[in-house]
Amino acid sequence: MEIRDLKLTDRRKRILESLNLFSIKDILEYYPYRYEYYKRTPFISFKENSNVLFECVIISKPVTSYFGRRNVTRFKVLFEDNELNISIFNRNWINRLAVGSRIVVQGKYEGKNKVIASNYYQKTIEEVEGIKPIYSLKEGISLNDISKIIEIALEHIDDEICDYIPNDFIEKHHLIDYKKAIYYIHKPDNEENLKMALARIKYNEFLDFFSFLNVSNLSSKADRINIKKFNDEDINKFISDLPFDLTIDQKTSLNEILDDLRSNKTLRRLLQGDVGSGKTIISEIALYANYLSNYQGALMAPTEVLAYQHYNNFKKIFKNTNVNIELLTSSVKEKNSILDRLYKGEINILIGTHSLFQKEVIFSNLGLVVVDEQQRFGVKQRSELKKKGDNTDILLMSATPIPRTLANTLYGDLDISTIKTIPSSRIAPDTYFINSNSIFSILNDLKEVLNNHNQVYIVASSINQSDNIDIKDLNRLFESISNYFDGYKTEMLHGKMDNFRKKEIMDRFSEGDINILVSTSVIEVGIDVSNATCMVIYNAERFGLSQLHQLRGRIQRSSVKGKVYLLSDTKDEEAINRLNALCKTNDGFEISLMDLKQRGPGDIIGTKQSGLPSFHLANIVLDTKILNGAREDSFIIFKDNSSRYKEYKDYIYNLQKYISID
Ligand code: ADP
Ligand code: MG
Repeated sequence: MEIRDLKLTDRRKRILESLNLFSIKDILEYYPYRYEYYKRTPFISFKENSNVLFECVIISKPVTSYFGRRNVTRFKVLFEDNELNISIFNRNWINRLAVGSRIVVQGKYEGKNKVIASNYYQKTIEEVEGIKPIYSLKEGISLNDISKIIEIALEHIDDEICDYIPNDFIEKHHLIDYKKAIYYIHKPDNEENLKMALARIKYNEFLDFFSFLNVSNLSSKADRINIKKFNDEDINKFISDLPFDLTIDQKTSLNEILDDLRSNKTLRRLLQGDVGSGKTIISEIALYANYLSNYQGALMAPTEVLAYQHYNNFKKIFKNTNVNIELLTSSVKEKNSILDRLYKGEINILIGTHSLFQKEVIFSNLGLVVVDEQQRFGVKQRSELKKKGDNTDILLMSATPIPRTLANTLYGDLDISTIKTIPSSRIAPDTYFINSNSIFSILNDLKEVLNNHNQVYIVASSINQSDNIDIKDLNRLFESISNYFDGYKTEMLHGKMDNFRKKEIMDRFSEGDINILVSTSVIEVGIDVSNATCMVIYNAERFGLSQLHQLRGRIQRSSVKGKVYLLSDTKDEEAINRLNALCKTNDGFEISLMDLKQRGPGDIIGTKQSGLPSFHLANIVLDTKILNGAREDSFIIFKDNSSRYKEYKDYIYNLQKYISID
């Protein structure tokens, strides 16, 4: 059955499209992100400043007083023989209720028999009590819309949801039926049900994920056919020509990588290090060693802007060598000639985005692939890359460090090198949280930065979101910033812009020709302009912590201490705490861990939005027990050679086919 067959209004069908839900299964897997618990509070449990919910009788006529555009209505109620004074703001229609009406009041107990109501219901307490799922919403979509749609989709649960997981494991872990779990996740009738539902769905997510990794063998090392040979002297000469000395961590990581290249197993290594720790140069030396062994190399970056920036950097670093470097992106004009020269082996290092792994791109002898900012690529791209040959060395680089034990869990057979320190010439910026989505209070600081001939990044969370007034989008920001700072050159940059224009703006910003760059998070990764020492991030609450940390990494490129302003008018205490926490630490590991706990790992292991097994509910930091169980089970399933687990295996192999390269 398809969505169009559901009894839904056209408006609700459009809602589904806007949420990227295209099948009934998609709808059923659109899980609540939190729950509200409605439970009656007996009077003896009323504590000052605690939330309360109770059914009562109105015993005095509600009276409304007005102040400006606001109003407050007050009345008395009787609850368990206690007389309580209720105040409720901006609900003056409640004064239509007669003395003697029974209502349910929800609110905060202020002490001294006073309750500030946040809500009231003309229902019985039994009707109000329960667990209410809360779904993430978009502009113009109400919770009611989603709840109704889910309700209708749930009628078809039997036809749309299949349970592939072998019974042995369901019994072993005392899990509930999958369909039941999906039902309870949307309509829990008590906390126990909800707990069981969560456990079951998390288990599925982990098992599918590990099974997928098992099958795709993403990280396994193969025996090498040709051992790479290069001279240490050549490498040392290259290093001594660099404009700086390598840090100790850089040297250690580099030696690990060079040893891998020489060994008789292929290289599968994750080089992780905080923003600005100097990973690029390590990859350049590794690619040089690979070149000296007569192999071609490639560097894959997540965005065109970053690929271009790497290209320029490589040109500089390799200028005293004979290494031929080319850039291949969708906007490169001489594409055919590049492909031709690549095929003939005339290009030694090719830099680009994931377009490097299209079918038409044929290397003559690819020896090493470096994936920069690997957390930005999905499992899908990693798997495509792997298909380029088992003998290709693969060096993944990531600025979102994860603890080693976690990395081992997720990547299995992958070695890890870590750069902990950042070069001493870089100074971490000071970060300030401003609980207002405006630069009003920091205008003078910004002017001072500009007057000192330093440059400023202004970051918006979206390009265009004109219907949500809480969000300062790029276009509007650009306009207002240009006005505030007239006399300075302001330009705009975002991912959807024409590539030539993007390049032109990046070049002009690097050359100092632009003072203020108003941009989306496209500048998050890799962009390297040392004269930019200040960054203002609007709607900071809309970014993940790791992402904010990456963003501010853009302004520790010089020996001047930079300043970062996180602007947000959020009232959400948790969000405020998170942003304040970011002001206090510059430790990427710590931040990444906070992020993992809070948001789940979708982005960190690169399964988000890939259509592949990913974690909606499971959390790799918090749900370790289920995780370990599922990992073990997955090994059992794929070690078994009988037909016992055939159904589940087929399901996983199908997922695998789904991502095969076109
Ligand atoms: P990331 O690890 O975030 O990718 P980069 O490789 O872009 O960091 O390095 C950040 C900057 O630090 C670059 O400008 C690079 O040239 C510089 N750099 C790298 N290593 C050193 C070093 N050992 N000493 C001084 N500067 C360095
Ligand atoms: Mg980098």
